[in-house]
Amino acid sequence: MKTCLLMKKIFGKKNFGLLKEIGQAAQEDGLTAYLVGGPVRDFLLNKLSKPCTRRMQGKDLDIVISGGEKLEENTAINLAKKLFKIWSPHRRLAGEAWQKRIKFKIHQRFGTATILFPEKGNQLLEIDFAFSRKENYPSPGRLPEVEPGNIEDDLYRRDFTINALAVNLSSDEFGELVDSTDGKNDLKKKFIRVLHEKSFLDDPTRILRAARFAGRYNFSLEKKTLTWLKEAIKKNALFTISRQRFREEMVNILKEKESAHCLNLLADWSVLSFLSPDIRWDKTKTIDYKMEKGDENWLVGLLLLIKDLDYQKTEEITRRMVLTRKERKIILQSKKYLPDALKALEKNYSLTHLYHYLSLLPEQGLIYLGVTNSCWTNLIGTFQRRKDKAKPVLNGEDLKKIGYPPGPIYKKILKKIFQVKLLGKLPTYLSEKQTKEKEIKFVLRHFPLKGVTAKERA
Ligand code: ATP
Repeated sequence: MKTCLLMKKIFGKKNFGLLKEIGQAAQEDGLTAYLVGGPVRDFLLNKLSKPCTRRMQGKDLDIVISGGEKLEENTAINLAKKLFKIWSPHRRLAGEAWQKRIKFKIHQRFGTATILFPEKGNQLLEIDFAFSRKENYPSPGRLPEVEPGNIEDDLYRRDFTINALAVNLSSDEFGELVDSTDGKNDLKKKFIRVLHEKSFLDDPTRILRAARFAGRYNFSLEKKTLTWLKEAIKKNALFTISRQRFREEMVNILKEKESAHCLNLLADWSVLSFLSPDIRWDKTKTIDYKMEKGDENWLVGLLLLIKDLDYQKTEEITRRMVLTRKERKIILQSKKYLPDALKALEKNYSLTHLYHYLSLLPEQGLIYLGVTNSCWTNLIGTFQRRKDKAKPVLNGEDLKKIGYPPGPIYKKILKKIFQVKLLGKLPTYLSEKQTKEKEIKFVLRHFPLKGVTAKERA
């Protein structure tokens, strides 16, 4: 099949149309636009797999602009501005009206820009624009010094040959592959290969990235690459990167479908001890949880990784991983209440007790339990479904209207309603109005208002 047709099939009609427009817009200004990195790698992987039917969805597009003498630090930003102007009016493409809500961001410091298209649900298609650049590493682990360069320079600064691939988008050469480091061949051989000996020392996050791509595609590290990686680990290269960058790559790993494979590799290379020397990773483990873009379910993977750490060491990890307040709360709350929930499950506690412990856990703590032991999956699933329906219809305002003076009693009452609904002692299948009436009756019976009869209040 011709590359163009295949691109249309794999990227989908809408994204294919956008790529064509990008190429044309660049050419009009005497520039050349390339699609680079991950999308090209995955496009070729699709092409190599037979039959090639997989559509690439939810994939961001990275665009690099080249232009010889014409190239300046603002080139990519200006081109993205021009495309944003074309795309943002109320124009319809493929029968959809998403152009109305597209967004534009400029990152002046890096000479880059991003256009964001809303997709189905809460998804966004991100198109990143950068000018082609040459990099120089002043010292290991530091961010590189950057200057404009040609497309080959831009590919040479990348992590692995399989990511150092570009597709020309200009009308005359649309679909032509730029593969100056033999990446396509490495894709065929299923190899992860760095571009030069100092790669892991220049940027040790590549150690984590090597585990991510090898785990995701079930690729091996090419012999020299593995030697250089191990040398860099021995030299403690990972200590030279910032916590934030370490976090970003670890999170990417934990978001992978095959994150257990990636973690196995990190365990083999003794990288997990950089996170904490007390981590004991069980290589027979599989991790199976759904990841939606933007959610925090990757924390389930983190919980599995740190399952042997006590509360205090877990707190240290939350700092080392630069967790946000919300993420930190999820991890620490899980750490605090998981032992009781595990005990309740293992010792077959009554449903009342079990549900009490389960309701103290955040969503990720519950998923963790389901992943840890498949015998519990159904039980946890039932609890999750009931929990969603058990939310009281009554709220503080209603309790005030009934006549309860505001105070800690509100929390107690609402918790009680939640508990009885969880256990099925109050119906959850009625209309909102009927449920409310039942809840009011229940509350008045169990929390009598002094001097007023239940009948009068109801
Ligand atoms: P994914 O399929 O997970 O989105 P990706 O290849 O798009 O994978 P990103 O982390 O988004 O991965 O990086 C985009 C591109 O930027 C990569 O393909 C790679 O070429 C380049 N890149 C990212 N991080 C590095 C790095 N640390 N060193 C060199 N190149 C990098």
